[in-house]
Amino acid sequence: MDMERKDQFLLLRNKTSKLNDLVQETHKKVFERTDCLACGNCCKSAPPLVTSKDIKRIAHFLGLSPKSFKRKYVLQDVDGSFSFNHVPCHFLGHDNVCSIYEARPTACRSYPHTDDGDFLKRIHLHEINAKICPAVEEILTIMEQTIQNIKQ
Ligand code: SF4
Ligand code: SF4
Repeated sequence: MDMERKDQFLLLRNKTSKLNDLVQETHKKVFERTDCLACGNCCKSAPPLVTSKDIKRIAHFLGLSPKSFKRKYVLQDVDGSFSFNHVPCHFLGHDNVCSIYEARPTACRSYPHTDDGDFLKRIHLHEINAKICPAVEEILTIMEQTIQNIKQ
């Protein structure tokens, strides 16, 4: 997304609720026709953040202790946050199936966050994600096309 498109969205700060409703609708429609199993780009290029709860849940799912799981799969950042230590993700199969799907991190469940309800607050994140996720790029393109109607 170029600056011009991002700036167009930011001009709509006084129409936030209408914009959020339209983005949610668009997100739903785009993901109904998106085949994530044919893509897998997010799992191949962006390590998800993992919380302590995620670590306990996934370790249990794999039959490991949280300590062993962390040692093997988790990296701690200087700010104290945790993420997986490898891209493509250790748990991504060749068929793009996630081998820990039922226990996957919360960040994986909510990716790419375009239906999180505060579209403008996350616009910089959407801009980055559009380069990884074709669905986000499509959502932003559709929103750009409908932006003129929101402005009125
Ligand atoms: S845990 Fe699963 S959904 Fe999350 S990045 Fe890894 S393969 Fe993808
Ligand atoms: S990058 Fe987007 S379209 Fe591709 S698998 Fe991830 S969420 Fe699905």
